[in-house]
Amino acid sequence: MNRVGLGWDLHPLVEGRPLVLGGVTVPSPVGLTGHSDADVLSHAVSEALLGALALGDLGRHFPDTDPRFRGISSLELLRRVQVLVAERGGRVVNVDATLLAEAPRLGAHLPEMAKNLAAILGLEVDRVSVKAKSPEGLGMLGRAEGIAAMAVVSVEAP
Ligand code: MG
Repeated sequence: MNRVGLGWDLHPLVEGRPLVLGGVTVPSPVGLTGHSDADVLSHAVSEALLGALALGDLGRHFPDTDPRFRGISSLELLRRVQVLVAERGGRVVNVDATLLAEAPRLGAHLPEMAKNLAAILGLEVDRVSVKAKSPEGLGMLGRAEGIAAMAVVSVEAP
């Protein structure tokens, strides 16, 4: 049957961290902070995949209290999530994701992010959509205190 999953994530922006989104290091004076590389896009897609099969959330599988996951690439977490999905007979059909970021401008980097996600998931790149929206200066995201990402996935599963 066809199943759908929804993922959402948010991390704070701080000085002295690289900004990694979909495995792409985007030039920026500030980066996202978190236990892993804080790649909100990969986290949102991972949460959506887990959600599609009702497998809980990322923290349940990769707790931020576990030192094994400190500084880990979130593309590696996504790869492990993909294995969990595949073990249950799941086949990802497509991914649609949106980043919410006031700065920096992300448009030029979106195709590479989509390519990275597609490669990890074993999908043709035209099955992975990564978009970016400006929060138009509103609220915490508009003040560039953080970057958020949301994703939906479709998974064909027994
Ligand atoms: Mg996260």
